[in-house]
Amino acid sequence: MAPNQHVDVAIVGGGVIGIAIAYFLAQRGLEPLVIEGTEVAHGASGKSAGLLSPGLPHDDDETGALPPLLARSVALHGALAELLDGPATYDYTPYTTCLVAMDEDEAADLHARAEHLKAEPIPLADIPERCPWLDQPVAGALAQPTAQIDSAKFTERLLESAKSMGASLRMGRAVGLVGGADYVDGVELSDGVVTAEATVLAMGPWSMRAAAWLDLPVPVRPLKGQIVHLDPSVEPPAGGFSDMHGHYVVTRPTGLVHVGATEEEEGFDAEPSAAARESILSTLARFTSRLGEMRVVNQTACLRPLSGDGLPLIGAAPGRQGAYVATGHGRKGIILSLATGEAMAELITEGQTSEVDLTPFDPARFGADQ
Ligand SMILES: Cc1cc2nc3c(=O)[nH]c(=O)nc-3n(C[C@H](O)[C@H](O)[C@H](O)COP(=O)(O)OP(=O)(O)OC[C@H]3O[C@@H](n4cnc5c(N)ncnc54)[C@H](O)[C@@H]3O)c2cc1C
Repeated sequence: MAPNQHVDVAIVGGGVIGIAIAYFLAQRGLEPLVIEGTEVAHGASGKSAGLLSPGLPHDDDETGALPPLLARSVALHGALAELLDGPATYDYTPYTTCLVAMDEDEAADLHARAEHLKAEPIPLADIPERCPWLDQPVAGALAQPTAQIDSAKFTERLLESAKSMGASLRMGRAVGLVGGADYVDGVELSDGVVTAEATVLAMGPWSMRAAAWLDLPVPVRPLKGQIVHLDPSVEPPAGGFSDMHGHYVVTRPTGLVHVGATEEEEGFDAEPSAAARESILSTLARFTSRLGEMRVVNQTACLRPLSGDGLPLIGAAPGRQGAYVATGHGRKGIILSLATGEAMAELITEGQTSEVDLTPFDPARFGADQ
């Protein structure tokens, strides 16, 4: 039996969200503890595409709540890449991606959203030169400046830096909370108890378990995604492209090409499948013939934590003093991790946030009868 312990803040979940929260808490002088049941970044945080796009054409936020969180996160990613030597330690690489439209309707839709996507329209005649991946006809394209990272290395690097400021990691599975009817003061693990001044649940797609612990609806479900890694054998075009339905190609700094991604409602199944691989490759063949010559060297599958209304849940758990929730970041958890971590650290230490308004992400919004 591992010893019971007392910490400033207990964070359940060693994915990018839990670790980003630990990083910003440690920066503020606290000594948070991350509790991870399997291994750090073993879920989507370790297998994502790691694209830091300021907006996704297939996942537009109609509420308008996300842009400030995205903008703050993009700024923090840029600053942190300098601070933590991102290019060397987690492959932080700025690049330009092409957002492409297959037909006239898509082109009209894409161009109408250019500003929102922080992307610039490319004249049709310039597409072959500016989007070298595309060798099949398309109806329109935007150039979106962005960056990519290796999200597994990023999560590890963030944890290493958090530890150097006083955070720590404990391997163990949380099985419940400790406290009373209207307060939480820690976490029950399968091998002990951690008491804490504040407790954060950042369990990714497994966060729905927290619903029973908190007596609060946490409508977060797993959305499976698969990515195929290709060895191009000859030097591939730089950059990449994305269609309007969540499919993309990106040349990695390693020289490999990553193509993705599926969106599958398969519960907690996270096994790669041949059907998914064929679907990704045949969809992308409509835009580029280059993939057909490449050799498949790896395929990964993982689970996005998708919330009931598509927005993350970030904030205090209603009715349970000392408990907080940070989950449901769906397709954008890597990019949104830093603004989430910063805001949660402010909320826990000061009771309010300064950079972003968390009201639209209030975990209480689903109500008790959801
Ligand atoms: C194919 C694919 C591509 C993606 N590409 C991108 C991208 O390009 N850009 C982007 O921004 N986002 C992307 N995402 C989304 C992103 O990966 C996720 O939103 C993000 O990783 C979620 O992080 P998390 O920390 O909430 O969850 P997770 O990474 O799932 O981490 C949760 C952790 O909690 C732990 N845990 C759960 N229950 C317990 C318990 N009871 N006790 C202890 N530990 C527990 C788990 O073991 C896990 O390690 C992609 C996702 C997929 C699937």
